[in-house]
Amino acid sequence: MKILVTGGAGYIGSHIVLELCDEGYDVLVLDDLSLGNESSVDKRAEFIKGSTLDEQILKKLMPEVDGIIHLASFKSAGESMINPSVYTQNNIEGTLRLIDVMSSYNKKNIIFSSTAAVYGNPQYLPVDENHQTNPINYYGFTKLMIENTLGWYKDLKGFNFIALRYFNAAGYDKENRILNLENKPQNLIPIIMECAAGIRRSMQIFGDDYNTPDGTCLRDYIHVTDLAKAHINALRRINDNNTIFINLGTGFTHSVYDVIRTVEKITSKKINYSVTNRREGDPAKLYSSSSFAKKSLGWVAKNSDLENIIKTTWSIYKTRV
Ligand code: UDP
Repeated sequence: MKILVTGGAGYIGSHIVLELCDEGYDVLVLDDLSLGNESSVDKRAEFIKGSTLDEQILKKLMPEVDGIIHLASFKSAGESMINPSVYTQNNIEGTLRLIDVMSSYNKKNIIFSSTAAVYGNPQYLPVDENHQTNPINYYGFTKLMIENTLGWYKDLKGFNFIALRYFNAAGYDKENRILNLENKPQNLIPIIMECAAGIRRSMQIFGDDYNTPDGTCLRDYIHVTDLAKAHINALRRINDNNTIFINLGTGFTHSVYDVIRTVEKITSKKINYSVTNRREGDPAKLYSSSSFAKKSLGWVAKNSDLENIIKTTWSIYKTRV
């Protein structure tokens, strides 16, 4: 069975490619390398440099493909509010092109990389799949728009799709098979890691006056290997045709200070930080219900305790010290 992974050279995509190869799938990676790195792609997979915006490449690849895992997109919520047009182009136009080429080649199975950002400010916790979708950043909107489009193609063209809504992905493959660091990371854990590795001198905590036990925001961190394994389960169940939107989180939370303290403990490095203003759009608490993922995918997070997330990340970052 041949699976096309768009964005398969990126941080999450490359971990998914590893799992697919380990499970014996034939894997084709399409990535334009705008964020990804070819050396992150497992040698068992075939790599093609290109964009989902390139219809000719899509048409060339599609006949041999049995299923698609679609990740290729930009993913910075903050950037999407400043420069929405690249998100329109990459996340929306690129995906619409992919969907249309799929449809014209009668290919119907797609796992879509979505995000908790489709929910916007949580109205209740834990957030489950029935929570209203009301994104508060353009990035979240682009993902929601594609989810909705896939819903139409399910009805109109018989698509089978599962949209996996990721919470806070972090960690690295425990066998150190992915060595590339994220380029200009925007997320908390790689930023703290850069401090520990001496790549940056200090970091900022965006507010410590939230209504949480230590005043910093609580998030649901999920190990990227757990995320990757959920995609395999989703592929196996894609034809069941009754599960569509699934949260991938643990249901547990950690504060920004928890993460900093855990990094200091595991790395034995002091993290220099200052507390600044709150970042716009940050809810105090965000965590997922994991019960539907368990029920629908038979999936539970097994690698996502914070220490394991930090240890596997540090084992890559420490080589850069
Ligand atoms: N955060 C922070 N400093 C940073 C980056 C993030 O204090 O340099 C905080 C952010 O405000 C949030 C948490 O860390 O409370 C997780 O942020 P991240 O950007 O990793 O993920 P998000 O939950 O926003 O998707």
